[in-house]
Amino acid sequence: MKNRDEVRELFKAKKVPLTHQRLAVYEELSGRKDHPSAEALYESLKKDYPSLSLATVYKTLQTLHEMGMVARVDSPAAQARYDAIVETHHHAVCTACGRIEDLFDPRLDTLPAPKAEGFVPSGHSVHFHGLCARCAKASAQKTR
Ligand SMILES: [Zn+2]
Ligand SMILES: [Zn+2]
Repeated sequence: MKNRDEVRELFKAKKVPLTHQRLAVYEELSGRKDHPSAEALYESLKKDYPSLSLATVYKTLQTLHEMGMVARVDSPAAQARYDAIVETHHHAVCTACGRIEDLFDPRLDTLPAPKAEGFVPSGHSVHFHGLCARCAKASAQKTR
């Protein structure tokens, strides 16, 4: 995650114009820990940025992704989810509500690369699938 000055510098270095809307999308994403989809970002930004469109949010996320400023997170749902943490880390993915939480564990950072024929790994992220605390509690109550 980067502060506003670092964001400005990065845009300048890549010669990409930093619009208010692009900054707003990045800052909203950085401020959230729930790995939101483009739709979820749009929902929370549209009050403050009435001229913002969902298409602009998609395009901005694409631009930020190309600049290496955001990561896409694999999720069991069809929607792409986004992350302002681009350093190696891992995720706990709730299969019931789709919540994605960050996991930081140096043991997972140093997994040996798989020996798959011809495969050249560029990085990895471990995803644990299961139920988040809230969903685990709800399902325990249901079965009682
Ligand atoms: Zn859940
Ligand atoms: Zn993450």
